[in-house]
Amino acid sequence: MNNENPVDFIRKIIQQDLSRQGTGIRTRFPPEPNGFLHIGHAKAICLNFGIALEYHAPCNLRFDDTNPEKEDIAYVDAIMNDVRWLGFEWAGVYHASDYFPQLYDYAVALIRKGKAYVCSLSPEQIRLSRGTLTEPGRNSPYRDRGIEENIDLFERMRNGEFDEGEHVLRAKIDMAAPNVNMRDPVIYRIMKKSHYRSGDDWCVYPTYDFTHCLSDAMEGITHSLCTLEFEDHRPLYDWFLDELGTHHPRQIEFARLQLEHTMTSKRKLKLLVDQGIVSGWDDPRMPTIAGMRRRGIPPAAIRDFCDRIGVTKNDSRIEMNLFETCIRNHLNESAARTMAVLDPVKVVIENYPEDKVEYIEVPNHPHRPEMGTRVIPFSKTLYIERDDFMETPPEKFFRLAPGKQVKLRYSYLISCTEVIKDDNGRILELRCSCDLDAAAEQQSQGKPKRKVKGIIHWISGLNAAPVQARLYDRLFAVEDPAALEDPLSGINPNS
Ligand code: ATP
Ligand code: MG
Repeated sequence: MNNENPVDFIRKIIQQDLSRQGTGIRTRFPPEPNGFLHIGHAKAICLNFGIALEYHAPCNLRFDDTNPEKEDIAYVDAIMNDVRWLGFEWAGVYHASDYFPQLYDYAVALIRKGKAYVCSLSPEQIRLSRGTLTEPGRNSPYRDRGIEENIDLFERMRNGEFDEGEHVLRAKIDMAAPNVNMRDPVIYRIMKKSHYRSGDDWCVYPTYDFTHCLSDAMEGITHSLCTLEFEDHRPLYDWFLDELGTHHPRQIEFARLQLEHTMTSKRKLKLLVDQGIVSGWDDPRMPTIAGMRRRGIPPAAIRDFCDRIGVTKNDSRIEMNLFETCIRNHLNESAARTMAVLDPVKVVIENYPEDKVEYIEVPNHPHRPEMGTRVIPFSKTLYIERDDFMETPPEKFFRLAPGKQVKLRYSYLISCTEVIKDDNGRILELRCSCDLDAAAEQQSQGKPKRKVKGIIHWISGLNAAPVQARLYDRLFAVEDPAALEDPLSGINPNS
């Protein structure tokens, strides 16, 4: 458990439930396989799997796959890969689509109880008769169909005798309920679409609200954690389970993660992929788990970030800086160091012997000796970063300048004696002299007695290898792209 932060409200509820009931808990992470997981899902993953780990309890991975139009096996594979990479293991993998037969039976049971009916209004008519937040809805003329007629029609819907939109199955609750979700919601609709798992076995598909609570119930989930937009659906979640007399998990809602300068919605991220604005779901600029992995972000940094933001009921946008700080901290701890220059300028040490090579043993990590050492050669020619030199530096410039001394990391103090330029004034080469007297002090890890303010990195002219470096900026220039009418207009053209 996170010891720095006080226990969050969800863990408090679970603790209370446990002390009352004393039985174990079971959580689940329920993505819809209609895209790749993003940083927002990481929050839900860390929460559900994290709580399970704290209580040595199981957490299921469940694919909420009841919409044949948008789902795909490729997303299922990517999601499993991403959850594992984040460092979590599920107790079992489940698919809501595996429950199609049971869900159908539950729907029939509701009809038998007089709590569901086949409605033959068009989708548009249903929408119009639902009322508004201030006005009650109107009862469907089909609301009082007899049970046997409903059973018969529902069976024929299932057998493919009707076209899409001809009939739906609706729960019979209350068209005047203040909560619009309780106004006889649709629980089954006809969709003549192939499902990526069940193929053409079904032409009626259950809605999310009907499926989710019953899937939780069938899996014996105790705490069903979801994001705030489902708060208004909780009465419906409870209604289905109460009417059907099943095991009854407790639904608890928490705030979605929103991160500045990015979007956390699969649907919107898919636009970037489909329109070729990024190279794919795993483009390193994407806030997807696959993108973050490709960019080199350690999974521990993502878990740490989720821990730090915590879980609350308040919607807020988290600063990208916080995430970047977590990444930096983790990389600083774990990354083996190497020196590279991205925009090299040649340095020739005039007073260094032509054929001499010194081999310097340097640590792979400044504070972690167990990470070992490597050996780098030092000779007359080397390269430094073009930015690390200024011909007429401002006062506080502590790097290389004519007549000024700077320390080469793990090596000599040098000072610049001459600047060689081409006809356009671009610097071709820096002639430097090296302080050979101080050399004795310059043991690879020893501290120089002489005080220098600047240390710069460099690479050897003897064995430096060319590399391809990929430098990314934020994908979005604006703070909240999702709030724009066209999120794509907020793209940073130079990311
Ligand atoms: P999206 O709009 O990105 O598809 P979703 O909520 O529809 O989001 P699901 O695949 O249904 O995506 O989400 C799986 C789980 O992850 C759900 O429990 C959902 O509440 C949670 N989740 C999704 N987005 C976020 C987020 N930004 N912050 C926290 N949890 C999230
Ligand atoms: Mg969803």
